[in-house]
Amino acid sequence: MSIKALKGFKDILPDEAGLWQFIEQTARDVFHRYGLEEIKVPILEKTELFVRTIGASTDIVEKEMYTFEDRNGSLITMRPEGTASVIRAYIENGLFVRGAVQRLYTIGPMFRHERPQKGRLRQFHQMSVEVLGSNSARIDTEVMAIAWQILQDIGLQASLEVNSLGCAACRPSFKEILQEFLQERLSHLCDDCQRRSNTNPLRVLDCKSEHCQAEYVSAPSIIDHLCQGCRDHFEEVKQTLSSLNISFAVNPKMVRGLDYYTRTTFELITTELGAQGAIGAGGRYDGLVQQLGGPEVPGIGFAMGMERLVMLLSQKGHGEISHVLDLFLITLGEKAHEKGFILMQMLRAQGLRVMMDHEGRSMKNQLKQADKQNAWFALILGERELENLEVVLKDMHSGEQELIELAPAFEDWAPVIKQKIKH
Ligand SMILES: [Zn+2]
Ligand SMILES: [Zn+2]
Repeated sequence: MSIKALKGFKDILPDEAGLWQFIEQTARDVFHRYGLEEIKVPILEKTELFVRTIGASTDIVEKEMYTFEDRNGSLITMRPEGTASVIRAYIENGLFVRGAVQRLYTIGPMFRHERPQKGRLRQFHQMSVEVLGSNSARIDTEVMAIAWQILQDIGLQASLEVNSLGCAACRPSFKEILQEFLQERLSHLCDDCQRRSNTNPLRVLDCKSEHCQAEYVSAPSIIDHLCQGCRDHFEEVKQTLSSLNISFAVNPKMVRGLDYYTRTTFELITTELGAQGAIGAGGRYDGLVQQLGGPEVPGIGFAMGMERLVMLLSQKGHGEISHVLDLFLITLGEKAHEKGFILMQMLRAQGLRVMMDHEGRSMKNQLKQADKQNAWFALILGERELENLEVVLKDMHSGEQELIELAPAFEDWAPVIKQKIKH
């Protein structure tokens, strides 16, 4: 019996991989335009790292992490998100010495043991950004602009929602006010909200239950309870977003699932094809570096789910992405195979994506392969062409054919062919 992949784990097959590459390359290009540098961090970390950063009473830590003992009996976890590891690496390697502000990005898989459902996998992929070392509201705006730009460049519509969650100075008193409000209507709330009203009261505000949401219409708003510093910061974020013509809406009920957020939080919500939900989200985490034993350094970041982007793009008919091959070399007869094999290598050295058939198949069959591989051109080389020093170049889309004369010297062939297939 054959072995199947784990539940919630998915193969990304060649047909889909082009779309992944397109999104990743577009994002990398945006990251580099914004002065970000790549950091690669391990997939496995000490469990403690996530308990201390994400928060012990969050869904992720309470029930979703892949945590186990390794062979030495150490408790380790497959990262459920990227920020904690990047901060750990930032502190451990003293990256704050490299410069006051570090602009970092990372791309890779994350793991959460959730109930598998459509578009939700246990291994999923994120592109994430962390900017460490600046309090400036302009950094918040820049970080949001990065996420915004990526979506623009890959061709997806989204709206931006922003909120401020306050800071260590103003959030505790808001929590008390909110808790008081919740106590008064505790019996009307769902089980999760009842429990969270004690452990994590802010989280109740993004409860999915319509019944709970009806209760929260009159809930106190964090925006009205920010300290002066947080209020000024939030005002500046809104102003600078407007100055860049990035439209947004303030959503005071957006609280995000992680405990470490402070001040600005944001979500990018897709409106494509009636699909709802966040395709990117993030926020400021000013106390986190210090909380993990590092210096007093503020930070802000976001993560974007790759699966969601791939799904939305393929729904939009972005299926056939790039041409895999520039040229499929069709050879007929033993001599042409021999010569063609070397010519293929020369063309590849010229930077072209070239393939040929090694099985001695018929012309018709090789043309079929060229078509299947999505080649721009087919180059036909037979015994007669070899003798006459010419090849036939066929445009696979228009069907047009052109006879190309070749120089007597074999090493001149590849540059001539390359000239002809510039597109
Ligand atoms: Zn504050
Ligand atoms: Zn609820």
